[in-house]
Amino acid sequence: MDKIRNAYCFDDVLLSPSFSDIASRSDVSLTSYLDDNIVLKLPIISSPMDTVTASSMAIAMSQCGGLGIIHRYNSIEDQSALVKHASREGTWDAGASIGVTGDFIDRAISLVSAGANIICVDIAHGHHEMMRYALGVLRNTFGTKIHIMAGNVATLEGFNDLADWGADSIKVGIGGGSICSTRIQTGHGIPTFQSILDCSYSDRDAKIIADGGIRNSGDIVKALAAGADFVMLGSILSGATESPGSEILLEGEKYKTYRGMSSKDAQIEWRGHTSSLEGVSSMVPVKGDVSDILHDLERGIRSGLSYSGARDIFELQGRASFIIQTSAGAIESSTHINIQKKRVLMD
Ligand code: IMP
Repeated sequence: MDKIRNAYCFDDVLLSPSFSDIASRSDVSLTSYLDDNIVLKLPIISSPMDTVTASSMAIAMSQCGGLGIIHRYNSIEDQSALVKHASREGTWDAGASIGVTGDFIDRAISLVSAGANIICVDIAHGHHEMMRYALGVLRNTFGTKIHIMAGNVATLEGFNDLADWGADSIKVGIGGGSICSTRIQTGHGIPTFQSILDCSYSDRDAKIIADGGIRNSGDIVKALAAGADFVMLGSILSGATESPGSEILLEGEKYKTYRGMSSKDAQIEWRGHTSSLEGVSSMVPVKGDVSDILHDLERGIRSGLSYSGARDIFELQGRASFIIQTSAGAIESSTHINIQKKRVLMD
């Protein structure tokens, strides 16, 4: 194997527009299947982070056709209560995350009793012996009664191994998250877009969930076109009314905390001390209801499919043709009116 190759990120690529006979964005379906029984009308999943998904977010995601994965950074009792609350409130599919050490199986059993039908094994480096062990224990305990989501991985080998170890869906992306410092701290990672493309060549049935570094509906369309069945979002959904945490008033503007689960703040709060620091903590403006955020994204994604002449995600993946843009192209691709104005003023 070569020791080095090119790898592309979202901003390196664009989808080539192609002939379309789609008269209206409403003719486009965004339905995606997690497995034979779990169908989402919107292929968007909220991250299992303590500033993104507790019960309110899970309920709102579900009501909008997506899915929320309730975070694990609390006691088994507290997380189970959040799952129970979400399942009362009419969440059709309830997802909750676990780790791979300590009482992970007790946590999973409690979450499933509370109503979870999707268990997400969520660790930073998912292509790991401990993941193999945890997936084995989960499958032995629950059989096919629950959907098992697992991650994160960044390579096709990692994806195939997790699928073979029992994962039904796999989170793909290492080091790309907006609050992530893994690449800085460890020198490891692969641009999320490239990882999705690589994993799309898998011959396993497991679904691809693109996770980390998705900033807008354009990135979502690129992720789906590259082979993702779903995207997982952290920063885009942070600061929403339904995200956990209180509002902070700063110079007249309202903010909420959004932090990596391996940030110093988060680690001290949930494990009482710090281990490897691979995330940062930040403040994001309060953005309003998650339904509005999702509707905006949905409009952009529907438009994206229509530029490819695709009526659904499957058709998008079949028709997708990417071009690699130059750095000058990347500047042209972003809104650049301010740059021109500055030039005129300078002239
Ligand atoms: P975002 O959508 O770009 O903000 O990325 C969110 C994703 O970052 C999550 O779904 C996780 O996979 C990942 N993540 C969460 N916390 C951390 C961290 O502390 N370090 C690295 N990655 C993280």
